Amino acid sequence: MQDLKNNSSDLQSNSGFQYHCPLCDASLETFLPFGLDFPVLQEKSIIGGGHRDHALCPNCGSLDRERLVYLYLKNKTNIFEQPTKLLHMAPEPKLEKILRQHENIDYLSADLYLERVMVKMDITNMAWEEATFDAIICNHILEHIIDDHLAMSELYRVLKPNGWAILQVPISYAIAQTYEDATMITPEQREQAFGQSDHVRIYSHDYCDRLKQVGFKVDVFEWIKDDQLFGGQENKFGLIKEERVFFVTK
Ligand SMILES: [Zn+2]
Repeated sequence: MQDLKNNSSDLQSNSGFQYHCPLCDASLETFLPFGLDFPVLQEKSIIGGGHRDHALCPNCGSLDRERLVYLYLKNKTNIFEQPTKLLHMAPEPKLEKILRQHENIDYLSADLYLERVMVKMDITNMAWEEATFDAIICNHILEHIIDDHLAMSELYRVLKPNGWAILQVPISYAIAQTYEDATMITPEQREQAFGQSDHVRIYSHDYCDRLKQVGFKVDVFEWIKDDQLFGGQENKFGLIKEERVFFVTK
């Protein structure tokens, strides 16, 4: 008599499913659609924002951009090997769970509004002393901050010398430079102008220059050009092909 249990686990491992979520380790037939759909997001081809057909993991709820950050941490940093004092801002839930479980990571989450974080904090006025953290993960925050230069300066200040940070933002290479307009103040105006009701700009080619202005060294990583550990050209992990990782060091 056949062992049904073994059969079903064989089915799982040889399922032929095309996709895999690195955060929950599920084999998947597909990722699910996710994201807003305002015209400006299409017009300006905003990477990391807007509607994507294959963004959301149906098993753990992780997003494409969260999976990219996790894969980058795993494959390109020593965060899972070295003792690391980490600040995780506006933490992505699944990523938070993985990072908090690691013994060598001294984990702290922070945000101004989120209830589930360990510390409530304004990114433009951080409570910590200079050179507090070995690493900072701060994704999709700077596009919400009116004085992003001050926010970047604060991130730089609280990072230890030789510390590093991942600072992801939605970005458009279809425009010449970062688009800001201080007269756009209502949620409706900001939706129309920037693609989300609480965004205050669309970053572009000069994003790296802004980071360099506060002192960071910037390394831009394009996974699609170095895809072996990132799911290959078949995009097994459901990433955004154009998305780059903005890795900065002090
Ligand atoms: Zn998942």
